[in-house]
Amino acid sequence: MTKGKILIIEDEVSLARFIELELTFEGYEVSVSHDGREGYEMFESQNFDLILLDLMLPGIDGIEICKRIRKISNVPVIILTAKDDVSDKVAGLDSGASDYITKPFAIEELLARMRAALRKSQTFDVKLNSLTFKDMVIDIDKRMVHISGEAVELTKKEYELLLYLVKNKNIVLTREQIFNNVWGYDYLGETNVVDVYIRYLRAKIDEKFGKRYIFTARGVGYYVSDEK
Ligand code: CA
Repeated sequence: MTKGKILIIEDEVSLARFIELELTFEGYEVSVSHDGREGYEMFESQNFDLILLDLMLPGIDGIEICKRIRKISNVPVIILTAKDDVSDKVAGLDSGASDYITKPFAIEELLARMRAALRKSQTFDVKLNSLTFKDMVIDIDKRMVHISGEAVELTKKEYELLLYLVKNKNIVLTREQIFNNVWGYDYLGETNVVDVYIRYLRAKIDEKFGKRYIFTARGVGYYVSDEK
């Protein structure tokens, strides 16, 4: 059992390698990128439990990455900053980082901050074992969906797709994001499987209950929205 999937975005190769080895030893599953743009793409296409993010990066800088992450995810982000500058820390936290640590740091301190950030986000998840959206209730433990008290029969993939949309409600998700998060990289299929399953869901939810839950962002993807 892994303690969690961690993404390190840090262009100082030896530091990134050091953190990677320590975290792997501690039982985390670790991915590393030395470039801002590539790191952000890895975040977009995979599920991570926590992100360690350097500020000064080639490609896209850390503050910008953090802002973009916050638009689509609540994943904890710990900023690794070489600067002891207060304004950098403020900018980091303003951009939505959960915490920051100043280089050089003791690995024990980083591990403690990571545990704290993961604990916080897991408490958040546990509270989410039931999600309410409009008149829809998703019971995450039982994997059951009710609309106005009536049970909705969904297949495994339909359920996972709906859960992913509702967890990210009011955020437009691209077909690629949906595909990678619900089907995963290992699935040998085309992203148009997303359109097919959206149709299934609409038939079982929107059409059956006579309300709009799932919206199309033309040419981009889909989202569920609080709008009527
Ligand atoms: Ca750097």
